[in-house]
Amino acid sequence: MIEVEKCCITRYPAPVLAQKAKPVEEFDDSLRALADKMKDIMVENKGVGLAGPQAGVGLRIFVASPDGTKENAKVYINPVITPSGTLVTNEEGCLSLPGIWGNVHRYSECSIKAQGLDGKEFTEEGQGLLVRIFQHECDHLDGTLIADKLSTVAKIAARRKLKQLREDYENQNK
Ligand SMILES: [Zn+2]
Repeated sequence: MIEVEKCCITRYPAPVLAQKAKPVEEFDDSLRALADKMKDIMVENKGVGLAGPQAGVGLRIFVASPDGTKENAKVYINPVITPSGTLVTNEEGCLSLPGIWGNVHRYSECSIKAQGLDGKEFTEEGQGLLVRIFQHECDHLDGTLIADKLSTVAKIAARRKLKQLREDYENQNK
């Protein structure tokens, strides 16, 4: 059972963000409730995607909505991505790293194989912003944050902000 009522946005350096998330095995009501809650958290924080660990749940699930609306948010469970094409550099942010923005390289194309809330498998070709969201969210499921992917210069620029986030986290978890 997933304790959905306890789910909220998780910020760096919460340990769950650095861990490899576990496969979803039970497609039950609590998973559906989790997906719904994740959509709400994403919309509230004005994001376009949110992965399980960002809601405090170490499961391989993410939601994505290129226009940031709940209506268009789609759920991807146990996703496997196949990136292709060329590497494209673009500025990215992350709801778990508020205030940190930096250039991240992503592949220009990406197909995804995942399961829906009914457990049925589907395949999709990413279009536009989704290509980047798929790669960003799948990184989360493997414990990787954009802070790990920034250039050396951007990492130095982000250092103070990361320190602030660590202090905030400590204060909240005293
Ligand atoms: Zn993120």
